[in-house]
Amino acid sequence: NTSNDSDKTLVDSNTSERTLLDRVDSVDSQDDPLGHNWNRQNSLSVTLKEWDIPFEEIVIGDPIGTGRFGTVYKGHWHGDVAIKVLKMDSETDNQSQLPAFKLEVAMLRKTRHENLVLFMGACMKPPHLAIVTSLCKGQTLYKSVHIRKEKFLMNKIVNIASQIAQGTGYLHARDIIHKDLKSKNIFLENGKVVITDFGLFNVTKLCHGNRKGDWLSIPPGWLCYLSPEIIRSLQARSQHSNSELDFTQKSDVYAFGTVLYELLCFELPFKKQPPESIIWQVGRGIKQSLGNIPASKDVKDILMMCWSYKPDDRPDFSQILKALGRLPKKPLMRSPSHPVHLSRSVDS
Ligand code: ADP
Ligand code: MG
Repeated sequence: NTSNDSDKTLVDSNTSERTLLDRVDSVDSQDDPLGHNWNRQNSLSVTLKEWDIPFEEIVIGDPIGTGRFGTVYKGHWHGDVAIKVLKMDSETDNQSQLPAFKLEVAMLRKTRHENLVLFMGACMKPPHLAIVTSLCKGQTLYKSVHIRKEKFLMNKIVNIASQIAQGTGYLHARDIIHKDLKSKNIFLENGKVVITDFGLFNVTKLCHGNRKGDWLSIPPGWLCYLSPEIIRSLQARSQHSNSELDFTQKSDVYAFGTVLYELLCFELPFKKQPPESIIWQVGRGIKQSLGNIPASKDVKDILMMCWSYKPDDRPDFSQILKALGRLPKKPLMRSPSHPVHLSRSVDS
C-alpha cells in the first residue's frame, strides 16, 4: 500500500475533497486503457503527492511581476523556476479553495508539449499555495508587440500563430481549456512559443484583490479576449452574481483570434475604448474592423472565423492549423503601401 499521511488529506471523507476526487477520477479514467477503477483514488493521491513541492525547498528570489495570482517570483528549485504564489483572501478562502487548487494541479500534470510552459509541481499545503513552472527566458508577445513595438513579417506571424494553435490545440485534446489566452501569457524564446497560465482561472478569480463585491474586477486589456458569450455572462453577473463565466474551447479560439489581431496590427482591438463600449459592441456581435490591416484576405478570413459571434461557427485548432498551413509562404503578404512595417521588422 503506497498510501501515507499526506494522501489521507485527500481521501478523507470531506465532501469537497470527495467531489474533487470524483472529478479528477473522471478525467483520469480516460487515461486508463484497461479501465481499472480499483485503486484510482489511491493512485491519484500518490500522483498528486509526486507533484507536491515542500515550500521550504524552494529558494524564492526577486519578484518578476504581479498579476491576477498575486506575485510571480523568480526562484530556484533544481534550476531556475518561476513561482506563482497564490494570495488568498482569508483562511476561509484558503480552505474552500484548496480542493479547486488541487484539481487544477491535477490537470497541469497532464500537460507535456513543446509550446507549453513546463509545470514542475506545486506547494499544496496552506498557507503556502504556489505553482512552480520553468522560468521563461524570452519575453512575452505582449512586450514585443506593444512595448518594444517589434513588427513581424507575415511568415513569422503565421509561424507564431501556428505554434500557439499547436499548444492550445494540445490542451483541448487533453480536455483543458486555457481560459486566459492572451499575449501576456505567451512567451517567445528564440522563435519558440511558450504558453503559460493555462487552466488556472478558477483559482485565480478567487484570489486576493480580484473581487469587488460580487464582481470580478476587469483588468485593463482583458475584455478584448472575451468572446461575446462570455461578455454576456459577465453582464449577467451583475444580476446573478453567482453565475460562472462559461469558458469553452471555442472561447479560447476567440481569444486566439485576438492574439492573431495583435500580431497583424500591433495593437489591441477596440484600442482606447472604454470597457462599457467594448462590452456593448462585442455583446451585439460588432467586431473590430480589419480594414486597415496590411494582410491578405485569407489571413483576415481566418481571424474573422475565430471571432465568429456563434461559438459553433468558430473553427477548432486543427482547422486553424490547416488554414494557416495553406497560406502561401512567399512572397511577403504585406501590402507595399505599408513599407514601414517591413523596415521595422525584427525578422531575420
Ligand atoms: P500576467 O499574465 O497578467 O502578466 P502573471 O501573474 O501571470 O500576470 O505574471 C506576472 C509577471 O510574471 C509577468 O511579468 C509575467 O510575464 C511573469 N511571468 C509569469 N510566468 C512566468 C514564467 N513562467 N517565466 C517568466 N516570467 C513569468
Ligand atoms: Mg500570466
